[in-house]
Amino acid sequence: MRWDGNRESDNVEDARDVGGGGGFRLGGGSLSIGSVAVALIAGWLFGVNPLQILGLMSGGSAPQTQQAPAHKPPADDQMARFVSVVLADTEDVWRAKFRQAGQTYREPKLRLFRDATVTGCGQGQAAMGPFYCPVDEKVYIDLRFYEVLRTRLGAPGDFAQAYVIAHEVGHHVQKLLGVTDRVEGMRGRISEAQVNALSVRVELQADCYAGIWAHDAQAARQVLEQGDVEEALNAATQIGDDTLQRRSRGTVVPETFTHGTGAQRVAWFKRGLQTGSVNQCDTFATREL
Ligand SMILES: [Zn+2]
Repeated sequence: MRWDGNRESDNVEDARDVGGGGGFRLGGGSLSIGSVAVALIAGWLFGVNPLQILGLMSGGSAPQTQQAPAHKPPADDQMARFVSVVLADTEDVWRAKFRQAGQTYREPKLRLFRDATVTGCGQGQAAMGPFYCPVDEKVYIDLRFYEVLRTRLGAPGDFAQAYVIAHEVGHHVQKLLGVTDRVEGMRGRISEAQVNALSVRVELQADCYAGIWAHDAQAARQVLEQGDVEEALNAATQIGDDTLQRRSRGTVVPETFTHGTGAQRVAWFKRGLQTGSVNQCDTFATREL
């Protein structure tokens, strides 16, 4: 991916030197250790569904949070710079897309943390993988996840890393477009299997939105290099529910899928990449994912 020298976002908060466990307070009193544990189990290694985070952790009313003050990442931190450039690129793409639709894009923050962090959705853990919290509109990532992605999940490459950010920003776009609220509003009225099925559609749409980012970034800034698309598609395959389940327990249980199969993730990312169109990403309107 060609990124060096491109604009860096001002929305990156570096909280890696903030103690993850201490120095914060959770208000609301609704967050139990149990709900945190459940959320962790639910959270695979990549992209916990924000709906699950919300529903499991807050039971409706989000806990109040006090995050320790963060600062800008150091200028010589290559990995943080990369993330800042990718985030800035998503800002440019989505700002333009929203403007075309007569709407205003509200930029999300991206908070770098280590091990654990307080969030507007409860306690976040590095083991959850990168995630988006719709309450505080922040993307959270422990950058050491990229090491996991490369080695344990078999998805190397800078464009695979960019796809991760673009996917989480996709969840932010869903929040702004009202998708998150609509789906969240159905919780409690549907079965757990139906929640999982909805979750898959939410996740595949975020993949499609990540593809839209790649499409528009390529058109405007020619960011793609040889092999980049393959890196993203490989990442999408490796973090599909079927691949992850086969790897972790040897069998596959489709009813428990929350993110979609590798093939589905590839297909929806490609769809965004090839069309650049939000209308093409309506995973809720199609029968066959
Ligand atoms: Zn996701």
